[in-house]
Amino acid sequence: MDDRLRQDLVNWLEFYRELGIEEIYQRDTGTLACAGRTPGPVAPLPATRDAKLAEAAPSGGAPHRMVQGGAPPVAAAKPDLTATKPVPPPRAGASQTIVVAPPIRPPAPSLSLFETPPPKPSGPESLEQIRADLGDCHRCKLARGRHTIVFGEGNLHAELVFVGEGPGADEDEQGRPFVGRAGQLLNRMIQMIGMKREEVYICNVVKCRPPGNRTPEKDEIETCSPFLFRQLEAIKPRLICCLGAPAVRTVLGVKEGITKIHGQFYDFVISKALATVHPAYVLRSPREEKILREDFEKIREFLKGK
Ligand code: URA
Repeated sequence: MDDRLRQDLVNWLEFYRELGIEEIYQRDTGTLACAGRTPGPVAPLPATRDAKLAEAAPSGGAPHRMVQGGAPPVAAAKPDLTATKPVPPPRAGASQTIVVAPPIRPPAPSLSLFETPPPKPSGPESLEQIRADLGDCHRCKLARGRHTIVFGEGNLHAELVFVGEGPGADEDEQGRPFVGRAGQLLNRMIQMIGMKREEVYICNVVKCRPPGNRTPEKDEIETCSPFLFRQLEAIKPRLICCLGAPAVRTVLGVKEGITKIHGQFYDFVISKALATVHPAYVLRSPREEKILREDFEKIREFLKGK
């Protein structure tokens, strides 16, 4: 068989295999036939390609393939297939009949087998994707009074994440969390345990300033907190520090008073979480700074242990 004919044969066999005609066998007469599950001597096509398809398939099945009209396959080099023998070549001089399925127009040679829609990303989302999804959020009533959405900021791979309550006036103005007086106290605590603000990630239960700095309401938290949880899932910190009761309730689902449960470690998915008093509370009740300091020392100890 000359090379061109042989190549064409390889292409045809490949094409029929892709159509689901899996077995090609050689008749006694030396002719080739293909069938579904025909008994008899079978010379299946090499499995290399199917193995690759199965690997590429999202759920173990072969990926969907669009078959379009077009010319029969022409010599489109497929090294793995041409390197193997799909069927033994017919004897010289023997008449060669290829019995095949009804004429279905084969795909245009330029069509990629992998022209399927790109699979949905399966890994964790990036913070960028979450921010993009949040967009110019108007999902709850807090949008009406805010100037800026305060998404959160810091190290995308932080070991330590702080979750506050919601932006105040300064944060709403600047679009950054904890930049007012409470933020300055938080910064001091972070430094006290030998860390820099840039090393941690800081965000809030709600991303828009509640009017008059009131506590965020249930419906606002319910609407906004899924974004917080997605952020935590993206960062996967070792420790989440909940600052104040709304953060403790939202993240941990714990309703007990913060002065009772502060400094205790909880499990949160694959992270640990700890509750402490909100820095704004300490600004109002300076005697309580002791609590904040003690809890930050616990954070330091926790992060020391690997
Ligand atoms: N208080 C908070 O809870 N969050 C901020 O971002 C600022 C103050």
